[in-house]
Amino acid sequence: MKILVINSGSSSIKYQLFDMAASGRVLCSGLVERIHEPMGAIKHKKFPDSPEEAVFADELPIPDHKIGMQLVVDRITNGQTAVVASPDEITGVGHRIVHGGEFFSAPVIVDDSVVEKLTSIIPLAPLHNPGHLAGIATARELLPAAPQVTVFDTAFHQTLAPEAYLYPLPYEFYEELRVRRYGFHGTSHGYVFGKTAEFLGRAPEETSAITIHLGNGCSMDAVKRGKCIDTSMGLTPLAGLMMGTRCGDVDPAVYPFLAERKGLTVKDIDAICNKQSGLKGVCGVNDMRDVHARRAAGDEKAQLAFTMFCRRVTHYVGAYMALLGECHALSFTAGIGENDVDVRQQVCQTLGYLGAKIDAEKNKTLKRGQPGDISTDDSPIRILVMPTNEELAIAQQTLALLQTI
Ligand code: ADP
Repeated sequence: MKILVINSGSSSIKYQLFDMAASGRVLCSGLVERIHEPMGAIKHKKFPDSPEEAVFADELPIPDHKIGMQLVVDRITNGQTAVVASPDEITGVGHRIVHGGEFFSAPVIVDDSVVEKLTSIIPLAPLHNPGHLAGIATARELLPAAPQVTVFDTAFHQTLAPEAYLYPLPYEFYEELRVRRYGFHGTSHGYVFGKTAEFLGRAPEETSAITIHLGNGCSMDAVKRGKCIDTSMGLTPLAGLMMGTRCGDVDPAVYPFLAERKGLTVKDIDAICNKQSGLKGVCGVNDMRDVHARRAAGDEKAQLAFTMFCRRVTHYVGAYMALLGECHALSFTAGIGENDVDVRQQVCQTLGYLGAKIDAEKNKTLKRGQPGDISTDDSPIRILVMPTNEELAIAQQTLALLQTI
């Protein structure tokens, strides 16, 4: 009942080993980084039974994912860093996959046809899927006894109706290239939605909620009676809310305008929209804590970035309430959603007349990292803070699938 969760990126591998027999206790976690560079690194955190954390950090060249995965397996199973006696103790491996295209609406056990499908949709996620595929290939080779499961960031949104996922572009772009809204952070939204229903004491199929994931990347889902009906990200994770360095929704005519006026290429504009925009673009810093520090020092652009960020979340709450037709809760999650009192207050301050009334005192005093209700006692819609845990969700979904075979 030990599940290894792998998030294999283009140059890094993040991992966590869960003991599912002990309520999902984390046995160890770690990060392999700077794969393919002259000098790489692995940081392995062992969580022994004692409350003290042991961290083992090493620098060494990591020329490819195979060497990276070998290091992961070695740290987990060998010497003083070990948390299991042999690789055979690993029951299964859950892989986080950013893009499953239209192929996958639930986790699946990896076989050659899954690899083939993931390869075929590389054009939809050129930065992510190749790294995922490298991680899958090496995990299959190094842990042949452990079934491999893929869990998709896009799967939770496969319930969207065509009118929600299609763009009003010539229809053949969808037919030929599958250009449509996919949405991301689905594992987080699904997990937070499940926790929201549990918190409210309602069956998921009788719960409607708006999940608000505000981290470095930000997205929102409208979930009606357990099924996602809309999501703010699109073909890529660039759409929707304003984010740390991503612009979110912008008039698409801005791009040809910039190309013409500034002599920028499509690639330049893509990089600007993904890496130089959002909070960073407006006020120079992408971390919300730094935005607050600058606001406190009287920086007007930081104040503007903060109000722009919150305004767009409010905008989507209104749109999603209208689409849902009923709403039991708004659930804030991820780094900003779970911790940022000011953002939650600003987002919700005008929502009272729609039935979501925030309680400023509860918002301020809610213990960090804890789930809780920050709405007034008479608020018809509950405003909740629900910590997300994507890795645990992947481990749970992996185990659930393995238990069916
Ligand atoms: P990622 O999308 O990389 O998983 P996180 O969910 O960790 O990101 O969120 C990162 C964001 O959360 C950053 O903007 C950071 O400023 C913000 N954040 C983290 N802790 C706090 C805090 N205590 N107060 C306000 N914002 C916070």
